[in-house]
Amino acid sequence: MMEIVRIPVLNDNYVWLVHEPASGETMVVDPAVADPVLNAAKERGWTVTQIWNTHWHPDHTGGNEAIKAATGCTVTGPKAEAERIPTLDRLVGEGDVVTLGAVEAKVLDVPAHTAGHIAYHLPGEDVAFVGDTLFAMGCGRLFEGDAAQMYAAMRKFEAMPDETVIYCAHEYTEANGDFALAVEPQNEALVERMDEVRAKRARGEATVPTDIAAEKATNPFMRAGSVEELAKRRAAKDAA
Ligand code: FE
Ligand code: ZN
Repeated sequence: MMEIVRIPVLNDNYVWLVHEPASGETMVVDPAVADPVLNAAKERGWTVTQIWNTHWHPDHTGGNEAIKAATGCTVTGPKAEAERIPTLDRLVGEGDVVTLGAVEAKVLDVPAHTAGHIAYHLPGEDVAFVGDTLFAMGCGRLFEGDAAQMYAAMRKFEAMPDETVIYCAHEYTEANGDFALAVEPQNEALVERMDEVRAKRARGEATVPTDIAAEKATNPFMRAGSVEELAKRRAAKDAA
């Protein structure tokens, strides 16, 4: 069984440290910074052997260079953003498979937040690392892509089994949920989820990871019935 550790860094980023005990491999998803990651690994007696990046933004790649220098790890990331992530060793895109020990991850192209954004789906573990594309009750801003691409990305996530645990890169849940409630005030599942989210945040607890079942029931971007509806909701959220 893989072990997944949440490392909160910067204002609201989550870096995910993943250990696969059979092989002894340790991987980090989107290290914004290096020291908290190296320390979290060291505390557990682990050495980082791989970095997996989802997109080029500095709050996802800022620790690459120092972690690579300290550990000699291999860095995997989106081939469409290779020029913007100079530390990459392995360039991947849709259909490629990356491995952590015996655990396989399928790479999905989910451009929209950035032009080459990818996600890693580990079907054998019921886990996906989705960067800034899918958030709890939200989606990433459309910095380098459009609503049609985000709509297509949502269909890829929706096709994953309901129990798939979704590790996203930010604690945006409460603000996302406030917006979701404005869109769907009558959604019972959403009302209940937001009661839980507010209680957790009041106790200073994380609300991530989420899962596909919860997102299908409450995420206004996954629940948008058309590209136009998603575009309208994204524009309204950006203006909120
Ligand atoms: Fe980003
Ligand atoms: Zn980010």
